[in-house]
Amino acid sequence: MRGPLVDFVLLTLIVVFFGVQQRRRPEAYFRFWVWGWVLVLTSILVWEFNLHGARAQIEQEAVRLSLLACGGLAFVFSFVAKQRKGRISLLQGLLIAVPVCLGMELIATEAHGHGVLIALVVVGELISAVMSWVSVKDRRGWLLWLMLALCPVFCAWMIFVIVTGHADAMMQVALGHIFIVSGLLFSTMKRKGGRSIGSIGFFLWGACYLLAQPQFMPAAGMAAIYSIWTVPKFLVAFGMILKLFTKVNAEFAELNRRHVMLYQEYRLLFDSNPHPMWIYDVATRRFLAVNDAAVVAYGYPRDTFLRMSVEDLRGDLDAALDGDVGISSLNHVVRHRRADGRSFDVDVTGNGIRFQGKEARFVLAVDITERETLHRELVRQAHYDALTGLPNRVMLEDRIGQWLTRCIRENSMGAFLTVDIDHFKRVNDTYGHQAGDECLRVVADRLRSRVRQVDTIARTGGEEFTIVIGGLKSREGASKVCQELLKLFEKPIAITGYELQLSISIGVSLYPDDGVEIEKLRRTSDQALYRAKRTGRNRAVFAEPLMEQASA
Ligand code: GH3
Ligand code: MG
Ligand code: MG
Repeated sequence: MRGPLVDFVLLTLIVVFFGVQQRRRPEAYFRFWVWGWVLVLTSILVWEFNLHGARAQIEQEAVRLSLLACGGLAFVFSFVAKQRKGRISLLQGLLIAVPVCLGMELIATEAHGHGVLIALVVVGELISAVMSWVSVKDRRGWLLWLMLALCPVFCAWMIFVIVTGHADAMMQVALGHIFIVSGLLFSTMKRKGGRSIGSIGFFLWGACYLLAQPQFMPAAGMAAIYSIWTVPKFLVAFGMILKLFTKVNAEFAELNRRHVMLYQEYRLLFDSNPHPMWIYDVATRRFLAVNDAAVVAYGYPRDTFLRMSVEDLRGDLDAALDGDVGISSLNHVVRHRRADGRSFDVDVTGNGIRFQGKEARFVLAVDITERETLHRELVRQAHYDALTGLPNRVMLEDRIGQWLTRCIRENSMGAFLTVDIDHFKRVNDTYGHQAGDECLRVVADRLRSRVRQVDTIARTGGEEFTIVIGGLKSREGASKVCQELLKLFEKPIAITGYELQLSISIGVSLYPDDGVEIEKLRRTSDQALYRAKRTGRNRAVFAEPLMEQASA
């Protein structure tokens, strides 16, 4: 049908095709396909050499048939390797290839009698039966039993041709066996594409060897067989190529399916995340994507959101975002505005990404209103007295520092007042602790009403307060303030059910007259208070030099 040159060119192209494909495919069975085709091609090459001398030609034929048989075996092993996930050893290959090649050699050289050939056939078929048993995974399937059944059939066939004096035909029967087994194995491959053509090709290939026996095939039949001699090879090659494309298509479809699944999973992570998330374009600062949580948290419908820019949430995002366009992350707390105008605190984390082909930022915004409220409350508790709401000692320390700095800067006089309620224990003892607390709150309010915003009053003990006053021009200024404070208690204090008459004593130290350091001023003020108590209470006493104020 075709000239040997066409066969040779086509087979070379097939070898190159599978060779190129094999480099990209790690599967073991594919490697066997390449080797199978290389051996088939080599056997054709060997055929084309014109050797002189009967002996050389005999050897040439033995080599050609051995190569062909090994090519066929490579195909058989390719399917076995696929079934056994590539686990196939060199020993297994040699076990079957050696008797086959030896047989070819013995027949070609006609070196031995029938006994040796029959023994070889029996051993060879026994090995194939054992290999079939070992190789086929499905022990109960029809494939194994058919392969096992073929062994005695072909064994008998070969013995028959040997004893009937046609030992040459034994080689063809052996090749027929190999290619029919290849066809069987090919027909059990998983996906359909190319399976029928490939297996038909193998069956025909095997059939050609089995039928091309001049001893019982008429000349017309032989002519017909030779006319289609190369067709099976190309059917097999075509089947294998189709198989490959089917596999590639299936892999592509699987890849696509995984890609879609991955995309959906990531979308789910974004869309269903409980925290607001969005992606915005760095260049236009417009939102490119927002998740459901952002839509709910900010109150803008999604399409409105996607027409807005990050500035619409809060202007001061800019500074943090603009500064690090090239840097991948940011993390800070900002205040954002909702669609209804209400603000809330957000912890913003961002990452530089590429999105829809643009330089973009992926931002996660966690609502931390509750955390911030709690934080503010803790800060307040740490700095303010719970009973009176006045600054506590911690806060006072900070304010005293500022007071002293102001006095130094303005070169003015400052007064450090320690105020203590007189005989407060009696209030507790007479009216109870709760009444005492109420009383303390009223006292704190009265004192606070006389202290300017710029000055500080703090509760620094049970019923003791500290007041620092700045910007005084003279000692008299401080004295005036003290008079006013004492005067506050001329009016009785009304608490639930009772009216109490209370008074306070004040110890005063002045900056810079009595000291320029806080500790010194505190100490001298305390000493002055002690003297105020000792000298009759309800009065303000200045630190040394003594300057007592008359009771109000
Ligand atoms: P003096 O004129 O010498 O200051 O007499 P005093 O009774 O006020 O004596 P002192 O200043 O030592 O008394 C402090 C009293 O204040 C003791 C305690 O019963 C009362 N006290 C301290 N802290 C509180 C408080 O938070 N609530 C109430 N109800 N009483 C307090
Ligand atoms: Mg007291
Ligand atoms: Mg006291």
